[in-house]
Amino acid sequence: MTIPAALTPKPRVLLGPGPSDVPHSILQALALPTIGHLDPAFLAVMDDIRAMLRDVFKTGNPTTVPTSGTGSSGMETCMVNLLEPGDRVLVGINGVFGTRMAEVARRCSASVTAVEGAWGRALDLNDFKKAAGASRFKLVCVVHAETSTGALQNLDGFSGFAHDRGALLMVDAVTSLGGVPFEMDAWGIDAVYSGTQKCLACPPGLSPVSLSENAVTTLQVRNAPVQSWYLDLSLIGQYWGTERVYHHTAPINMLFALHEALRLILEEGLDVRHRRHRTNAEALWAGLTAMGLTLPVPDAERLPPLTVVQVPDGIDEAAVRAQLLKEYNLEIGGGLGPMQGKVWRIGLMGHGSNRKNVTLCLAALTAALRAQGHTAKDDPLAAANAVWA
Ligand SMILES: *Cc1c(COP(=O)(O)O)cnc(C)c1O
Repeated sequence: MTIPAALTPKPRVLLGPGPSDVPHSILQALALPTIGHLDPAFLAVMDDIRAMLRDVFKTGNPTTVPTSGTGSSGMETCMVNLLEPGDRVLVGINGVFGTRMAEVARRCSASVTAVEGAWGRALDLNDFKKAAGASRFKLVCVVHAETSTGALQNLDGFSGFAHDRGALLMVDAVTSLGGVPFEMDAWGIDAVYSGTQKCLACPPGLSPVSLSENAVTTLQVRNAPVQSWYLDLSLIGQYWGTERVYHHTAPINMLFALHEALRLILEEGLDVRHRRHRTNAEALWAGLTAMGLTLPVPDAERLPPLTVVQVPDGIDEAAVRAQLLKEYNLEIGGGLGPMQGKVWRIGLMGHGSNRKNVTLCLAALTAALRAQGHTAKDDPLAAANAVWA
């Protein structure tokens, strides 16, 4: 029997906003035999994953587990566990994912105060202070790496600010974890979630979360049970903890894959990995600038795993992406939300952040733009090579 065409996709180079390229050993982990979710052999996998996740999040929190679902399920998990109807939440909004956090909080019947900032810029802590006034809050929410705009949020001072107002600090680290420095405990973060398909270099399907001791206490003293049975961390914790009580069937093979992904990250070393992401991003930025393209996010706030590039006047941006895919098997992203049609988003995430991919992307983009009459100002590859030299 032949394998249907639908199941023989061409391998792509994934330089979009996620999913990112998955290393071979992780794909092999997915193909391991499926075993039972209470099999003693599997319990060892779970213990390893919790320990490695703590190392990657830089936390000692016992409540550190991958939840079943993509990054948004981690967002929802943190919200539904920590919020009760009427709770006040302060949410920073400078892109699609801050907007999504506010929406999820509202659906938990929380009262949301938005701190709006320019898309493509980091948020200013002073704007949080102004919006908060003298009020107290249950949660202060902020996105560390806004994948929709390419802005990296400096989190200095955020935990002190949140804690002074009686709030827990909740951070979206979907695109930052494994790609830029992230220090849960040192930065005083109470709730964090990430996703496997960005800088962790795994397929989509799991969302690691971690709760601080104060966040766990907040969960324990709730007035009413968590409204989502599936995402209730007090129940999920009984499966991941010593009790091993069945809650829902863990996605066994995805967890094998996450185990391998975390192992690769710790083998490379977090500092080396972060430097790799930064150097390759700087090479990409140098190349794009040499082409005469504009990077709207200021240098100091630019996110190494995800670069936003302004589409030059007169260029059909979708045709460029289609050409890259067709002729180079190369995927880059278009703009999201209000930035649709105006920008490209180029991801250098996890395994995909390497010299070969940057070189391919610059060469392919130069050719696709030339096909529409846009000539590069200077030599993009020479500019990128100068960064690696
Ligand atoms: C991708 C992403 C999400 C959502 O993750 P999904 O896996 O698509 O559910 C949330 N926040 C940020 C910053 C992201 O980049």
